[in-house]
Amino acid sequence: MLKTMSISHEAAWDACLKVIKDNISLQAFKTWFEPIIPTKLENSVLTIQVPSHFFYEWLEQHYIVLLRKVVKKELGSEGSLEYSIVMENNSRTSNPYTVKIPANNSSNLKNAPVNLPINVNEKQIRNPFIIPGLKKVNIESNLIPNFTFENFVEGECNRLARASGYAVSNKPGGTAFNPLLLYGGVGLGKTHLAHAIGISIKDNFPNKTVLYVQSEKFAHQFIDAIKNQTTNDFVHFYQMIDVLIIDDVQFFAGKERTQDVFFSIFNHLHQNGKQLVLTSDKPPVELQGMEQRLLSRFKWGLSADLQSPDLETRIAVLNKKMYADGIELPKEVVEYLAYSITTNIRELEGALISLIAQSSLNKKAITLDLAKQMIDKFVKNTAREVSIDYIQKVVCDYFSLPLELMKSKTRKREVVQARQIAMYFSKSLTKSSLATIGMHCGGKDHATVLHACRTVNNLMETDKRFRVYVNDIEKKINLS
Ligand code: ADP
Ligand code: MG
Repeated sequence: MLKTMSISHEAAWDACLKVIKDNISLQAFKTWFEPIIPTKLENSVLTIQVPSHFFYEWLEQHYIVLLRKVVKKELGSEGSLEYSIVMENNSRTSNPYTVKIPANNSSNLKNAPVNLPINVNEKQIRNPFIIPGLKKVNIESNLIPNFTFENFVEGECNRLARASGYAVSNKPGGTAFNPLLLYGGVGLGKTHLAHAIGISIKDNFPNKTVLYVQSEKFAHQFIDAIKNQTTNDFVHFYQMIDVLIIDDVQFFAGKERTQDVFFSIFNHLHQNGKQLVLTSDKPPVELQGMEQRLLSRFKWGLSADLQSPDLETRIAVLNKKMYADGIELPKEVVEYLAYSITTNIRELEGALISLIAQSSLNKKAITLDLAKQMIDKFVKNTAREVSIDYIQKVVCDYFSLPLELMKSKTRKREVVQARQIAMYFSKSLTKSSLATIGMHCGGKDHATVLHACRTVNNLMETDKRFRVYVNDIEKKINLS
């Protein structure tokens, strides 16, 4: 902690920034914290200047907990924060966005107090989730209020996982899905869905004790318990839970003792009709370093996978996030983002947030151009590769053809030509195989794609008009 009497607002804010930087992603830090200017420190109140009202709301919505903690840490328990907002001059230009903050109607995620087993002394409980009460203990559910089913977009890519999660939340411990194991790559919604199940159970059954815990945290708690010789308390604690949600169980791989204790907790809960929800970045068969008996337990229930989001889901996710944050964007911008970022939902959200931040910071309207620049700067080096979907879209827009026709088997001349151009660019600009490209373009085989590429090359040499088309389209694909 700093001595507030003697330090300047700059030094105080610098100290805060150091901590903040360690706790959030670099991109978020650059976007949301670097533009802030400290202006005053008086009576432990630190005033920071933010560039816009939107900016202020974003900080309040997303970083307030962190900010509060950091300020208290650096300025002492009296420390607090005040914003000074640079007002936007709305008379000159139209609003770049509109802000409608939705009502926060999150459900009560607090667990009801739980009776301690008689043989356990409160003072010995070394569990960070417990806030000792008088006779009973409160167990923090650790659920994140925003990760609800309502905020989770359903799509082909997550239908089974979502549906089974939903079933579990209506009948925890009472379905065949016990344990429910959700698996899939990063950023596909495992954590979100796991929380949604927990939140929905708290809604439906307020008296059930729900606990969300990351595997890593579970493992560390266990190691602490060994050190402090409180493993009994540790086990008892987990045995009190009605719905245990453990995130990223692949972390247990190779940790035999942790697996052992988890195994015994698992059995106890399962035998008593309690619900287990687990997530993993791999399917059970690929979880190496995991004990066979544990893997076979996983198979008792249901394993449901989350896949990369399809285009429709990507657009729906963007629309949902925009609505939740009170932001409106032109349709073409939304489509552009959805077409360009295909890897996972976290990336997609990241791009949207950067875009909003850019616009807010520079007080520019969010246009397709701004989106293109932003994607270039923030996304290109990480995840972006022009996708077949995007190429098809550009080509169809150019010739004013419906996308369905391009993907259909029709042999109408103008469609065939557009399709050939899309294939040609898919071959030269993506890493996709000929077979994949063919599949995307009306279910053609690799020979057809090869033929298309040759045809386009030939026509470019012989037909001047055609060459103009192709060059125009290339410019559009290459983001000007
Ligand atoms: P994972 O745990 O699989 O790495 P997360 O659950 O952390 O992924 O999801 C990453 C981000 O994407 C989160 O902000 C989450 O809210 C969002 N997200 C993932 N799937 C969806 C979905 N189907 N609908 C809405 N948002 C989603
Ligand atoms: Mg996760």
